Amino acid sequence: MKMPIRFFTDEGQSTPGEVQTGLTPRLPPEGGQLPLNRRAGARFPAGTRSTLGGMIERIHLAKPRGFCAGVVMAIQAVEKAAQTEAKPVTVYHSIVHNHTVVDRLESGYGVHFVEDLDSVDALPQGGETVVFSAHGISPAVRERARALGLATIDATCPLVTKVHTEAKKYAREGYTILLIGDSARHQEVIGTRGEAPDATIVVGVLGKTGEGLADPHTVQVPDPERLVVLTQTTLSVDDTRRTIEILKGRFPALVVPPSEDLCYATKNRQDAVKAIAPHVDLFLVLTSTHSSNGMRLLELAEAECGRSVRLETAADLAGVDLTGVRSVGITSAASTPDDLVQAVVAHFRALNPALEVVEEGEWENIEFREPRKILPTQALPRTMQ
Ligand code: SF4
Repeated sequence: MKMPIRFFTDEGQSTPGEVQTGLTPRLPPEGGQLPLNRRAGARFPAGTRSTLGGMIERIHLAKPRGFCAGVVMAIQAVEKAAQTEAKPVTVYHSIVHNHTVVDRLESGYGVHFVEDLDSVDALPQGGETVVFSAHGISPAVRERARALGLATIDATCPLVTKVHTEAKKYAREGYTILLIGDSARHQEVIGTRGEAPDATIVVGVLGKTGEGLADPHTVQVPDPERLVVLTQTTLSVDDTRRTIEILKGRFPALVVPPSEDLCYATKNRQDAVKAIAPHVDLFLVLTSTHSSNGMRLLELAEAECGRSVRLETAADLAGVDLTGVRSVGITSAASTPDDLVQAVVAHFRALNPALEVVEEGEWENIEFREPRKILPTQALPRTMQ
């Protein structure tokens, strides 16, 4: 049976002194409730109430935090497909980089996640419709889906698609693309690079090294006069700016597109952390480790506050050392459901009913259009795209 998944905080459930969070006019609560034991934080595993240290007096909730428009669009695309398709739906790669979201889609909707389209036929009951994740795909994956006769729903965030379009345009014009990223293995980087693999060099954002990442201080290019820089959408704003400065210093003719590739959600969530950090003793960041934007929030919180902890869910509060902590900042990645944040707040409120919750800032009001299903007969071969 397909079960509605609730990713948002219910309106009207606030208790005195508690702010309502995670809601914007464009994000109505979804359908019914998950069973109690599947709602993150609704029950705390043994031990989570024994958080070390004193009583927390005040929480500063970052605003905005959590789901961005691209994530909402992608999750809703999967939910809708799962409700309307006759067969179980397959998603290529994690639809967004959050374990709870993936678990809920698997267990609540019977969605399959694959890293290889060739395994789709092997899934129980098949999986003729494939949803591409919010991070985007390389043209080779799109072509493979067409060759396999799969119907597709492309849930790539439009802000990622914009970078793909830039990559194709500059490659056509004979430019070398310096694509700044935090990992050559990140799905978004793989997808963007795939648009023009022979013309693209992946450059590590300042502070990031690893296989497949060139160093901005030493990267070599075939023609310094025909060079453009593009970026992954979810990097540190400050480190990206510094990386571009280094490249611009080495290659004065470097073209920097007028509108930055870093997305609004990345910038806004980092700004909110910077605003709160001076007022708190500890920053809690709810994110999965493979969320690029979430891990950048964690690094920023550590740099600005000096004390930060990553949580997957409220269960991770067990053993967090709160010695000397009176005020806590909380933020979450663009792929983290807000009920996970509310569970952390509820945990501290249970320990201190007089807990003060401060939430300042603005919610975003951005929506992306729902992607449509493309039948195999409608898919264009690469040469015609
Ligand atoms: S974090 Fe930015 S690029 Fe990624 S899905 Fe959200 S809006 Fe799109």
